[in-house]
Amino acid sequence: MLACGICGTDLHLLHGMKLPTGAEYPVFPGHEVAAEVLEADPGCGPQPGARVVVHPLLPCGECADCTSGREHYCAFGQMLGVHRPGGLAKEMVWRSDRLVPADDLDPNDAALLPDAVATAYHALLRANLRAGGKLAVIGTGGVGTNVLQLSRALDFDIQAVAVVHSEGTAKRVRDLGFPVIQGLEGAGRALRAQFGEMDAVIDFSGAAEAPNEGIRMLRKTGRLVLGSVRDEKVALSTTYTGLMTREIEIVGSYSNTLSDLQAVTELVRSGMLSLSGLVSHAFRLEDLAKAFDILEKRPPGMVRVVITA
Ligand SMILES: [Zn+2]
Ligand SMILES: [Zn+2]
Repeated sequence: MLACGICGTDLHLLHGMKLPTGAEYPVFPGHEVAAEVLEADPGCGPQPGARVVVHPLLPCGECADCTSGREHYCAFGQMLGVHRPGGLAKEMVWRSDRLVPADDLDPNDAALLPDAVATAYHALLRANLRAGGKLAVIGTGGVGTNVLQLSRALDFDIQAVAVVHSEGTAKRVRDLGFPVIQGLEGAGRALRAQFGEMDAVIDFSGAAEAPNEGIRMLRKTGRLVLGSVRDEKVALSTTYTGLMTREIEIVGSYSNTLSDLQAVTELVRSGMLSLSGLVSHAFRLEDLAKAFDILEKRPPGMVRVVITA
């Protein structure tokens, strides 16, 4: 392991979350890994000395989901850091076809790719934007910020707006060159007044009112993408007819696939996507407890926390 990001999932594991089928405690976490290959079967994937990013899912490769491009739904899939020992360790074992070459990347940046960046990319694919389209992103922590950055990397003519909660986040996002609406309440109306109707809205805030404000931002046939984790029911304030006559689409976006990780790794390697400024805290493996403490307390300015070997 060269660098391993930690996120909310690791915190949930620490607090004893219910594990997916086939996994049991104790688990050895770490699913956002940049690594150097120490040993590999000859002729089998990246060879010793190669630097890679690790896709954290081992799908079966044979079920109906796997063979139709939906490997992230594989019922037999195993997660790094959940079903199998993860990257918060000096060494780990993983299948060579789930490694993406990343020789020229800073390991701290590379460790952001498997979760926060590839998941953002997947959500953008789900938004299905046209060239030069208009996009609003609600909630710009790690993943939401990556959605903004990726939208610009993929299409320089895209018009992306952020809806943020705090003043600090507003400043950080403005410094990246994106216009900002601060505060979710009334954001739908405010955003339409300033920027017009959106082709797509992607929510990574998970706020109760985000779907309603998001729908208010959309043009007819616009698409709302829900990417956050929120266990409460969705209460929509629009009418059935309101959705029907405007042909609004509401879709989920879940996790990411190996091809998403390959795409974002290529964008960073080619210089089209910069990840600078996203790692707000870095700790050595020996100081893991301090890192989890920061993750738990979420101090202002925290974006991503990375552990280095
Ligand atoms: Zn994660
Ligand atoms: Zn499968």
